[in-house]
Formats: sequence, structure tokens, C-alpha cells
Amino acid sequence: MNIIIFGPPGAGKGTQSDNLVKEFKLKKIATGDLLRTEVKNQTDLGKKINSIISEGKFVSDEIINDLIKNILSSRIFENKLIFDGYPRNMNQTKNLDVLLKKYNQKISCVLSLNVDREIVINRILGRIICKKCGSIFNKFFNPASELNHLCGSNYLETRTDDNKETIVNRYEKYSKETLPILNFYRSQKILHEVNGSKEIAQIYKEIQQIINSLHA
Ligand code: AMP
Repeated sequence: MNIIIFGPPGAGKGTQSDNLVKEFKLKKIATGDLLRTEVKNQTDLGKKINSIISEGKFVSDEIINDLIKNILSSRIFENKLIFDGYPRNMNQTKNLDVLLKKYNQKISCVLSLNVDREIVINRILGRIICKKCGSIFNKFFNPASELNHLCGSNYLETRTDDNKETIVNRYEKYSKETLPILNFYRSQKILHEVNGSKEIAQIYKEIQQIINSLHA
């Protein structure tokens, strides 16, 4: 079972895909995380894309398509992937389709978390991430504590692209370039839309029902 999870920045894709990874033993392919690791490690690619990411622009399709090709061709976690933050435009969608056919895989389920612009802006302004374990928290809605996070507060940090100006940019890009992709998956009857404004646990319950209905 391969899944794609869509939603504007701050919709909760990372949080919900982490839940799915744990329950269904999937491997998360979050292109944003992969790119941030390149920046952190100051690789040649990382140096090239640092400012693009900070400004909320898209990294070139060529770079992204190569990343995904390497993953699919390695055949690790075959049919156990959850894509978060990819595909981001129609070109990447077509490329994914070609690669899936080439490596004999398919997408079973596409989830779209729908959330209003004002809600995502507030969520992102409170977002903090643990640089050690990758867990995502929110200063306002889901704070880290000794009960839900063992690494300690020293590892918590804010993403460089989580500021108001960049968020608005990223939201507009999502609406213009990523939302139209949903029609492609809608026509294949694998698209499931979920109200992403609810509480994290409630949203996950709805997602679980969708995934379980695929096995039924
Ligand atoms: P995310 O963690 O998904 O919000 O991604 C953070 C940033 O990484 C984005 O704002 C883009 O600059 C870049 N990025 C991540 N995934 C993609 C993609 N599929 N295509 C182009 N750029 C991407």
C-alpha cells in the first residue's frame, strides 16, 4: 500500500503521516525533510537549495525527480511508502506515475487534508520540531512535555521557512500549483478528502477509517 498525503503547509501532513508510519509500518518519504537534511549537512545540493527553501519557493523538478527515482529504484520499502510533500505540481505527478509503472508499484490511497488559510498560518507560527527525533509539536495546540517527548527541550527548533511572509508564499503556491493535482487522483477514484481543521486525534480516526476501508 503506497499513500500520498496532500494539504497546505501546516495542514498536519507530517503529524498524520507519522501516525500512519507507526501503525501501518510504512516508510515516510517527506521531500522537505530530505532537502532540509542536505542543507543541514551542507552538501553541494544543500548549499544550492538553502535560499530557495527559506523563501518558500519550489526546488527544481529535476532535483526532486532524481530523489524519488533513487528511492523507488532501490526497491526498499516497496509498496510501503507514504509521500508527504510530493508530488507538488503536475510535472512531478506525471513523473511519479511513470516511475511507479516502471518499478511495478501503484498508489492505493491519496489523502487530502483541507484546512483554511488563517488556521494554517496560526498553526505554522507555533510549530516546533525536535532536531533529534523529528517529532512535530505546536507551542499553542500541542506543546512538547516530559510526557510526550523524551529528548528534552534543548533539541526543539523552529523551521527557517516558518515565518509569516514565507507561509503566505507557500500557501499561495500550494493553491496554484499543488491543488490542481487532486483532480488527477480524483479521476482515478483514489482521492479521500479529510477535514484537517479538527483535533489531531479526530483527524487520525477519520484517516484510519479510510485506510481500513481499503483492506475491507
Ligand atoms: P515541506 O517540508 O514539505 O513544507 O517543504 C519545505 C520546502 O522544501 C518547500 O517550501 C520547498 O522549498 C521544498 N520542497 C519540498 N518538497 C518539494 C517538492 N516536491 N518540490 C519542490 N520543492 C519542494
